Amino acid sequence: MRLRLLSATVLSCISLAAGAEAPHWTYDGPQGARHWAELDKSYAECRLGHAQSPIDIQSAKIDKDAPALEFSYQARPLVIVNNGHTVQVDETGAGTLTIGDHAYQIAQFHFHTPSEERIRGRAYDMVAHLVHKDDAGKLAVVAVLFKLGRENTALKPVLDNMPLGAGPAHTVAGLSFNPADLLPGKRGYYHFQGSLTTPPCTEGVSWYVLSTPVELSRAQLAQFRTLYKHNARPLQPANGREITERP
Ligand SMILES: [Zn+2]
Repeated sequence: MRLRLLSATVLSCISLAAGAEAPHWTYDGPQGARHWAELDKSYAECRLGHAQSPIDIQSAKIDKDAPALEFSYQARPLVIVNNGHTVQVDETGAGTLTIGDHAYQIAQFHFHTPSEERIRGRAYDMVAHLVHKDDAGKLAVVAVLFKLGRENTALKPVLDNMPLGAGPAHTVAGLSFNPADLLPGKRGYYHFQGSLTTPPCTEGVSWYVLSTPVELSRAQLAQFRTLYKHNARPLQPANGREITERP
């Protein structure tokens, strides 16, 4: 997942040659996920952390009293960026996720293929990470898993307006988008503590992986993969982390 540092990230990638501070990173090769911690000392947590993401959700403790995820989103103009690592939609001002008595504002969502998280060993074809932030800056990420099936009409405007090359965010004229349309009807989830799945791999992120996947068509998956064939961090050790499940 990515922090809402999209413009900073874009600038850092684009202006790397001009000596920007954040080093370039990739998913594969010499600057790939296994080397992130070597690229910059601010990335040390990618190797030294003990609660890193993503993980394989092998088993979970059922918690019937776990709070529901209450999404209160609204349609906003579609602001979309190809940041060189993924396609991201800026959702500043699009609404709130409330979990119990804790409120978070949605900041952005973006995609990885295949899904970074797995459920009992199974990776899905794609995942959307909906990134939320509370007033203290603490992050909560909701993961929506995608499997092959019917065309996903909610996804269509996003895929059809992806900038083909990395660059600054742009607003798609005449189009509004409600991130709630990406969510499955059933809102059961797995919950655990983890990290950003991109450098600097900062921990303290609350993860909520929706257990019901949504669908996308083979053509839609191929459409995303024309830009990003593989942009998923490898699995990280769970290290005995507690995983709870709200059915
Ligand atoms: Zn992500």
